[in-house]
Amino acid sequence: MKQKLVYIAGAGHSGSTLLEMFVSGAPAHVGLGEIFQLVDRRNSRIERVNEELCSCGEIIEQCPYWSPILATLNNIPREDEAARYTALADGFAQRFGPEAVMLDSSKTPEGLAAAIGCGAFDIRVLHLARDVRSWLVSQRKSYARNGVATWRANTARDGIFKGTVRHILRTPLADARRWQKVNRAVEELVATHALPSLPVSYERLCFDTDAMRREIEDFLDVSIAGYGTAAARDDNHSVFGNRMRFDPEKLQEIRYDNGWMRDNSWLLPWTVSPSLRRQNARLQGRGTRA
Ligand SMILES: [Zn+2]
Repeated sequence: MKQKLVYIAGAGHSGSTLLEMFVSGAPAHVGLGEIFQLVDRRNSRIERVNEELCSCGEIIEQCPYWSPILATLNNIPREDEAARYTALADGFAQRFGPEAVMLDSSKTPEGLAAAIGCGAFDIRVLHLARDVRSWLVSQRKSYARNGVATWRANTARDGIFKGTVRHILRTPLADARRWQKVNRAVEELVATHALPSLPVSYERLCFDTDAMRREIEDFLDVSIAGYGTAAARDDNHSVFGNRMRFDPEKLQEIRYDNGWMRDNSWLLPWTVSPSLRRQNARLQGRGTRA
């Protein structure tokens, strides 16, 4: 029997940690975080499992759930992504039993393709998207936090040539293309492999939580308890996501950053690209009208 897996797909900075915590309110669901990072041959983060924390509070390497699985992974070559993802499925079934459902918030289409390719999973996709206007503004904020928001900052850091290229790749137009590309890749994988998929709007999760919850419950055929309450499970072992995963109480009040309404950096890509507006509407679950 294949291991049941709910894959949270979408672009980074779309609220996947929040959605994972929300969906882990179903009794059979166990939140594991961005587990493709343990599988991805190009990712070096697995070398930091002796410093990064699991959501249970232990260093990942010492977490009672992950430590035996990491020992198994150590014996599988980095190149064999299919065997590594399969080892995650086997370790999960051993620990939680055949009825439990893995919550994987790896987000990337590469991770989804690997999960499909290994053949170990019965996959349902929650295709999470934050309104692209809000997402573009959050990218700007993240560049500002990291000191790479302007051409001057980029060239001071990386020199005139590399810095200019990096600056161009960080403009709203380039970001919008990236957002479209990632989300289109998810849509194509879902269509090609005929996977059950539900568009989950981050905005609706914040503003219309009960209706969004009912749609997710129908789609996954589960009942989601009030998150952060005693009814929600407390043995998630979520790795590599947003730090919010250590603080379920934050979920009690889902807050939405509406700063994008006062920031117009989304305006240019939004204006010049009808396909961006259409895709945004589609992923918000509002049909094809833009
Ligand atoms: Zn843990």
